Amino acid sequence: MIEAPFPTAFPVPDPAGSQVLTQRIAGLTARIDAAALACGRAAGAVTLTAVVKTQTRQTLADALSAGLTVFGENRVQEARDHWAGVPGRERLELRLIGPLQTNKALDAVRLFDVIETLDRPALADALAKACAKTGRSPRLLVQVNTGAEPQKAGVLPDDVAALLAHARTLGLRVDGLMCIPPVDEPPEPHFTALADLAARHGLGVLSMGMSGDWETAVRCGATHIRLGTALFGAR
Ligand SMILES: *Cc1c(COP(=O)(O)O)cnc(C)c1O
Repeated sequence: MIEAPFPTAFPVPDPAGSQVLTQRIAGLTARIDAAALACGRAAGAVTLTAVVKTQTRQTLADALSAGLTVFGENRVQEARDHWAGVPGRERLELRLIGPLQTNKALDAVRLFDVIETLDRPALADALAKACAKTGRSPRLLVQVNTGAEPQKAGVLPDDVAALLAHARTLGLRVDGLMCIPPVDEPPEPHFTALADLAARHGLGVLSMGMSGDWETAVRCGATHIRLGTALFGAR
């Protein structure tokens, strides 16, 4: 297959930009470790996923230079544009944290190391097919709509068991669960519910917590927190 080359080379990091990020990362990492230790967990138990939706390639270059290696993307196409031709791609972990259409499953499997938003049987079918076709097998999380919000992606809590069973019959490995609590409710009951569901199904990975609520999420057992604003400023 012949790929059109990306029109612009990956930018050189900007020293001022990467210095600002380096300081923010150091401050956040210290707070994340402190939050983990405060509830009897190990420092380093929580992975920071840098959410880079809407960011420029310059910001990505600065982020790499500041030492970030785990990135969250909301859209397949934006992710492809973001990371085309980036040096050292194999050392990075790209995680899809936005909703995935079945017709983009093949692209997603080619691009991402982790897909956090498996939320329906038809998508499991499409991912299994894409894995077979590409020989790749990104790690998967099931997104749970803990608030049962009609407009939000995610499987309802009562349907998690059936979706996990369906994924298993397809040979897909699911490592954990992800959620985005309703914006207008305290997040803690949602994080606790997600942690309980994961424990019930023997799943070790919990992606929960964003810039406004990550400390609560760490207290509730998050293994991955997804930070955009706290790292890069308001979008
Ligand atoms: C945008 C986004 C984030 C990051 O949100 P911030 O509040 O900017 O930290 C995390 N998770 C998902 C699924 C997102 O879409």
